[in-house]
Amino acid sequence: MATAPIGDDVYGEDPTINELEALASAKVGKEAGLFVASGTMGNLAAIFSHAGRGDQAIVGKDAHTFRAEAGGMSALGGVVPMPLETDFEGRMNLQEIESAIIKDDPHHAQTQLILLENSFAKKNGAPLSKAYFIDIRQIADRHGLNVHLDGARLFNATTALGIEPTELTRHVDSVTFCLSKGLCAPVGSVLCGSKPFIHQARRARKILGGGMRQAGILAAAGIIALTEMIERLPEDHAKARQLADGLSQISGIKVDLDSVRTNFVFFDLADEVMMSTTEIRNALQQEANILIDESGFRQFRAVTHYWVGMEDVQNLLSVLRYLSSKGWSS
Ligand SMILES: *Cc1c(COP(=O)(O)O)cnc(C)c1O
Repeated sequence: MATAPIGDDVYGEDPTINELEALASAKVGKEAGLFVASGTMGNLAAIFSHAGRGDQAIVGKDAHTFRAEAGGMSALGGVVPMPLETDFEGRMNLQEIESAIIKDDPHHAQTQLILLENSFAKKNGAPLSKAYFIDIRQIADRHGLNVHLDGARLFNATTALGIEPTELTRHVDSVTFCLSKGLCAPVGSVLCGSKPFIHQARRARKILGGGMRQAGILAAAGIIALTEMIERLPEDHAKARQLADGLSQISGIKVDLDSVRTNFVFFDLADEVMMSTTEIRNALQQEANILIDESGFRQFRAVTHYWVGMEDVQNLLSVLRYLSSKGWSS
């Protein structure tokens, strides 16, 4: 990062950013890429480029773009979300999508866009299949809609599915993925799509205040993320598997082993456990300096990554085993 060649990216003159954008777009089989400050910024720039004020975007009701981006699509872009239920792995029902599409009725916001997410964070980080992407593409083509993929953890999904990223991304018009998170860069995401689309998204990024000038120092870490960190994702998935297997043997903890397919492990407290999630969280912090997030009623979410070693997994398991052996009494 310290030695990265830099220039002014607002003029397209940062060689390190240009290299990153070329690498990223090649990785997902698109013509062009755009380095952005965050996944949220990439998704927003995409939504604004696909849909205008008063247009409708069909989206899973627990998708990040709907529930975790501060309502940005509406607040800044005037885009109206049409949130639909999702199943256990984050798929919207195809029939419900068809019924939600409105094209030429003056009463309604006109549907312009379908938003996908893969892996699907709120549903155990599930990897959505190629078959689902093909189905969505067919619906979109039938109705003249665009499809954007929030692929914050796209490579976790394709690693779990054992397929090339292009096998999914060829069915969408645009895709965002994070260089941070599991790919280890400190900052940044890339939005990819056709050349005319990225030309428009560059303007949207500017509107969002995301023209970052000499940001090649950040893109340098993004290049390592793409060239070295994707291939090691199976390690994170193996650690998640180890954690889930260990948790399944602790009395008082419920974990659905089949749902653990990427780097996420959701686990619940059984009814007989008298401690609250907050008491357990505090105990983990005090006993072992482990920070863990409560992700729902009596539920925790653990995410494995480069900086969480197998010994950390064992550490978490042994504190939980200890609490269980004491009958979960605080
Ligand atoms: C993290 C994440 C994003 C992007 O979030 P930022 O914090 O803005 O980078 C988008 N979608 C999903 C599913 C995510 O997990």
